[in-house]
Amino acid sequence: MNVRANPARAALPALLLAVLLAAFPLAARAAGFDYRLAPRAVADGVWVLTGLTEDFSRDNGGNIVNTGFIVGDSGVVVIDSGPSRRYGEQLAAAIARVTPLPVVLVINTHHHPDHFLGNQAFAPATLAALPATRHGIETEGPMFNSNMYRLNGDWMRDTEVAAPTRTLAAGPVEVGGRTLEFLALEGHTGADLAVFDRRTGTLFAGDLVFNARAPTTPHADIARWQASLDALAALPFKVLVPGHGPVAHDGAPIAQTRTWLDWLDRALREGAAAGLDMTEMLALPLPAVFERMALAKTEFERSVSHLYPAAERASLEEQ
Ligand SMILES: [Zn+2]
Repeated sequence: MNVRANPARAALPALLLAVLLAAFPLAARAAGFDYRLAPRAVADGVWVLTGLTEDFSRDNGGNIVNTGFIVGDSGVVVIDSGPSRRYGEQLAAAIARVTPLPVVLVINTHHHPDHFLGNQAFAPATLAALPATRHGIETEGPMFNSNMYRLNGDWMRDTEVAAPTRTLAAGPVEVGGRTLEFLALEGHTGADLAVFDRRTGTLFAGDLVFNARAPTTPHADIARWQASLDALAALPFKVLVPGHGPVAHDGAPIAQTRTWLDWLDRALREGAAAGLDMTEMLALPLPAVFERMALAKTEFERSVSHLYPAAERASLEEQ
């Protein structure tokens, strides 16, 4: 019997494949390493690519971050380049589908890996950041990169650190035929750049603002972060793009980030004053207000490990 003459049998492998692809959409996506980036216009000439509110994984390839770009009259400004070389290349392709204008500036808002590891996809002369961010990428970038390989697997292939070559400073800047205002802030890290587009009232807050996802704190200075939130809240923005989580049209994500930081700061101080050990701190219940915040428990535990030793030292010094 000729197997190829039986159309039902010939169709079987294709059918099986279709069933498998439907059953494992994430595995299928991973096989193609397609981030499925879909830029969304949030204001005139302002585009955002919203990541998932998850941790880094081999399923999401590190696409847990918001990136964006602003199309001016003569060029494009990119705000954060994503977690991998592939992401950067797919971001560049997504931009090219929106506009034929060249990318003239790629800003890394701060030195965390999901915000700069896509830099390789762009011309080195376009890569720019605040001085301390440049320094952080140069010194800690390779360590971040190896860690991202461990977390995201093959999505990271060929990703290397491409450190910014240009230094940004606070103030209004004419770029790509558009006036943008750079705010040099700090607190999430030692240098956090926010970008305000006055023409549309769009504020790219970087990781100073998280929305519906608990803030990360490996390099946090909570008091400085709180002061930076005040500076952001004072701006007359209409659209707010957080570093992680959905785009908003009001200050709610700023208030939410502040509520988290205020609570975290108080929990650390009170725990240290009461002499709680690390295990007791990790067992503290989270307030109900954070119930629907993604990764609240995980980030609280990470924050305790990052920040509690310093809170304990400060408490001892006060006694
Ligand atoms: Zn960050």
